[in-house]
Amino acid sequence: SDLRTLLLDRIEDVPDYPKPGVVFKDITPLLADSGAFTALVDALAELAVRHGATKVAGLEARGFILAAPVAVKAGLGFVPVRKEGKLPGVCLAQSYELEYGNAVIEVKQDSFGAGDRVLVVDDVLATGGTAEASLALIRRTGAEVAGLAVLLELGFLGGRARLEESLGGASLDVL
Ligand code: 5GP
Repeated sequence: SDLRTLLLDRIEDVPDYPKPGVVFKDITPLLADSGAFTALVDALAELAVRHGATKVAGLEARGFILAAPVAVKAGLGFVPVRKEGKLPGVCLAQSYELEYGNAVIEVKQDSFGAGDRVLVVDDVLATGGTAEASLALIRRTGAEVAGLAVLLELGFLGGRARLEESLGGASLDVL
């Protein structure tokens, strides 16, 4: 589609980042382009409304950059899902495996109320580990996951297949 072309034209491949052999998808040129960034936020906000979301959750750190304006545009509240130790107060934590070692993400325990439906937003779906942990974490607060929306999917890493079970009835949207 036209939207897809507009967005993909503004994403750059950076070879050997963050380490040799990896091609990193750099979204900063897209963010620096007002037209592309606005179109992205509008498309994600439309998804939030279509899926009946009541909150938008963003995954640290690039997910924040997208999810916050999406929440404002959709007229919804924003909830940060952060790396361990960054949020004050009582948090729920979820650990997940990385290529080397483990990572822990957290959300405030009282982030959501009864009946909240959450759209989770991130920039890139790679192996799906981060998204899988986020969905589990959000559900443990008692909220329902309305969907996961990402700008880009690295299909060869199999994230979609990995997420099939944890998505359940929730949607997966890639722009
Ligand atoms: P996963 O857990 O699916 O393997 O990795 C996804 C997470 O790593 C996302 O939070 C995403 O921001 C980041 N990530 C992995 N690869 C890339 C990439 O090529 N470009 C960008 N922008 N983020 C990536």
